Amino acid sequence: MYGAIVGEPSGASSASTPAPTPAPVALDRDAYAAHARSVQALRAAYAAVPAGQGIRLAKRTSNLFRFRPAGDAWGLDVSAFDRVLAVNPGERTADVGGMTTYESLVDATLAHGLMPSVVPQLKTITLGGAVAGLGIESSSFRHGLPHESVLEMEVLTGDGRVVVARPDNDDTALFHGIPNSYGTLGYILRLTIGLVPVRPYVRLRHLRFAAADECFAAMEAVCTGGTYDGEPVDFVDGTVFGRDELYLTLGTFVDQAPAVSDYTGMAIYYRSIRERPVDHLTVRDYLWRWDTDWFWCSRAFGLGHPLVRRLWPRRYRRSDVYRRLVALDRRLSLSARIARLRGLPREEAVIQDVEVPMARAAKFLDFFHRDIGISPVWLCPLRLRASRPWPLYPLEPAELYVNVGFWSSVPLHSGQLDGFHNRLIEDAVIAIGGHKSLYSTVYFSAEEFWRHYNGDAYGEVKRTYDRDGRLPDLYHKCVRTGLTELT
Ligand SMILES: Cc1cc2nc3c(=O)[nH]c(=O)nc-3n(C[C@H](O)[C@H](O)[C@H](O)COP(=O)(O)OP(=O)(O)OC[C@H]3O[C@@H](n4cnc5c(N)ncnc54)[C@H](O)[C@@H]3O)c2cc1C
Repeated sequence: MYGAIVGEPSGASSASTPAPTPAPVALDRDAYAAHARSVQALRAAYAAVPAGQGIRLAKRTSNLFRFRPAGDAWGLDVSAFDRVLAVNPGERTADVGGMTTYESLVDATLAHGLMPSVVPQLKTITLGGAVAGLGIESSSFRHGLPHESVLEMEVLTGDGRVVVARPDNDDTALFHGIPNSYGTLGYILRLTIGLVPVRPYVRLRHLRFAAADECFAAMEAVCTGGTYDGEPVDFVDGTVFGRDELYLTLGTFVDQAPAVSDYTGMAIYYRSIRERPVDHLTVRDYLWRWDTDWFWCSRAFGLGHPLVRRLWPRRYRRSDVYRRLVALDRRLSLSARIARLRGLPREEAVIQDVEVPMARAAKFLDFFHRDIGISPVWLCPLRLRASRPWPLYPLEPAELYVNVGFWSSVPLHSGQLDGFHNRLIEDAVIAIGGHKSLYSTVYFSAEEFWRHYNGDAYGEVKRTYDRDGRLPDLYHKCVRTGLTELT
């Protein structure tokens, strides 16, 4: 039945798998001993870095969108912290190295019928990156942000100590200060996180709306009630293709699927949203549904074209591969040179995720369509789990927000400087009581920045854990000051 609806060369197949049974605690004492040795080695390496020398994480992957040369910053080798130490199905927790990718973590937890409560969409996002740099996904309306399922974290602090920070110990200020600190207070080496049970499949319903206010009203009702049409809802996100074409995608765990789709082949997930009202994916494919095409950004490399897609090896249809290509393009200014040769206008990269209050989300989209004009746009509702704000990203507890994500570029017209559209977005977000994440370009002045990201609270934690300022401060790390002419 659903196979007929699928209708694409998607590898759909009928499927039914028994619910997973809990396995014993996967606790490997050797892994802990090796971890302890790696912590000591890293601590010694950090202590040996000359005072005044810039420091960075030497990591194979990144999902930051601030492309800057590493310069002479000292690369700390953190490769030893890229593994899962233990999954404890009884307690529904996992002990994980700070540089472990969600791809590895999800594989380890799904084997026990569990998943992290929020799994950011890109496979190489790491636990430490999602906690220190924030993250979000379609379960965030229920479970908040990834850092809200952290029970404790072991941190190499800026002043060279290794501390275990928990919400209820002497290092609670560090525990609460790490989210949105972007590695400026210290580096997370290990985390204990809570997990939630899964079922084998996710049933998707893509609901179409012709107006933003109707879409957000439905989103709010689902997030508040946790059901739609009498059926429970475990995941909520949305996609905007235009002012009058918006989709709400509701995901529900199920034990059986009449057929499952596969969007790692020729079929493309974001296109399916417009084409079929109901769909089924395995839980793993659901979690990585956006990675294969980096949402829709892979089309910039021609992957929307069947011939290019067929020739592009399947194992390279991944967000980290595309990001490397973008980094290369930026380094060589390839696209900019080609555009110049073709006489096209200069382009400003507009790659951002912002959180706006649900009640004002339609107003924000209205501004966005009029003044920015990028599509598609990703929507994801979220509500904090915490009953008090996290100091460096002070969303209001209990308030329902919508994350709006847009990742493209906009032509600059005569007289407009690079940063023009990003600055418009910053002003619009602040004007409606929203927040802007810091993984990409930022244009706030120092005074604005510290007002929005709680400079007082930050200063206090910074003085306690990095009194000599061995790590950069948050403003200097994240902000590119001033509007500069593109050359
Ligand atoms: C196009 C795009 C779309 C995105 N969409 C989403 C999304 O939908 N959902 C989502 O959740 N996120 C999204 N992100 C943001 C992403 O989650 C953050 O950029 C995250 O910080 C990246 O994690 P990473 O592990 O790749 O860290 P990196 O990119 O390596 O580092 C990010 C920052 O965190 C610091 N850091 C990294 N590891 C640690 C550690 N162990 N301890 C302390 N500090 C550390 C680094 O110093 C750096 O400042 C998106 C990013 C992009 C570019």
